[in-house]
Amino acid sequence: EFHKSKGQHILKNPLVVQSIVDKAGVKSTDVVLEIGPGTGNLTVKLLEKAKKVIAIELDPRMVLELQRRVQGTPYANNLQIIHGDFMRVDLPYFDLCVANIPYNISSPLTFKLLAHRPVFRAAVIMYQHEFAMRLVAKPGDQLYSRLAVNTQLLARVHHLLKVGRNNFRPPPKVDSSVVRIEPRHPPPPVNFLEWDGLVRLCFSRKNKTLGAIFRQANALQALEENYRTYQALQGAGGALGSANAAGIRNLGGDEAMDHDGDDADIDMDDNDDDAMTVDGDPSARSKGVGGRKGGGRVSPEFKELVLKVLTDNGMDTNRSSKMSQEEFLQLLALFNAAGIHFA
Ligand code: SAM
Repeated sequence: EFHKSKGQHILKNPLVVQSIVDKAGVKSTDVVLEIGPGTGNLTVKLLEKAKKVIAIELDPRMVLELQRRVQGTPYANNLQIIHGDFMRVDLPYFDLCVANIPYNISSPLTFKLLAHRPVFRAAVIMYQHEFAMRLVAKPGDQLYSRLAVNTQLLARVHHLLKVGRNNFRPPPKVDSSVVRIEPRHPPPPVNFLEWDGLVRLCFSRKNKTLGAIFRQANALQALEENYRTYQALQGAGGALGSANAAGIRNLGGDEAMDHDGDDADIDMDDNDDDAMTVDGDPSARSKGVGGRKGGGRVSPEFKELVLKVLTDNGMDTNRSSKMSQEEFLQLLALFNAAGIHFA
């Protein structure tokens, strides 16, 4: 009956449904976005509280079932169902997002929400437990990674509630957790492509020191190439823009997760998030500094310049696994000030 491939695990425990709705803090003036309403257990509770619910559902059978469920109720006019793939739909205005999502799109879904404008108030989302723990991880935590840094650049995140697998039908193979995401408003004034270039590079070897990472030939070659490009562009008004949606959506790249955890890309090792590495996976999907294959040699002057930025600021002995978001921002600003760019 249910499609495993669509991540269809219906939340059956009414106490959990109620608890999610309560924790979301729905106001009577709110437009609520729901992703993957399924048979509508969460939807009907949201309709009791919100001005309007807009639900995006991929499966036409679920769309029909949900339509039937609200037909003839006082809430029928307050529900708009969009039949489509969340990742491809142009999002409407919403104040709040509440969703028990298909886990295989956890990362791109999160960054699509965070790229949406105008910025919404909060999202309360059910994730696979392991993914949730990675989203909320802090510097020094075992699970701290590019995912946590990028998410927390754009939002405050809190773990709200662990939900065991037996609250779902059919029960998935993994436990779940509900997370609250509050976008930072205004978003930080940073070029997200550059930010991600730096963070990818730093987490390519998350337990190495920055000094070691920035001594790697491939990294230096790519950085020097960027350096020359930027120098050539200077005076030509060639500075890159900052806050753009494409840059934000890019922050969630290379993450994958499955509701059942069968083929989940949850790497617990230190080579966390990425297909990309500085020693060059030729098939790496990532763009930017980390993913490129170095071509020529690095000039000693350039290497010196890079290392000087680190040592002058006492950052050469830092490890990304312990660096806060502020420290990454500071590092990016220092490199940029020296003409060194990551995208
Ligand atoms: N919200 C319901 C609940 O809590 O009982 C169902 C949750 S179920 C985990 C995920 C739902 O998302 C399914 O109804 C599935 O059909 C739908 N879905 C899967 N992929 C989707 C996509 N790309 N866009 C929109 N909906 C999707």
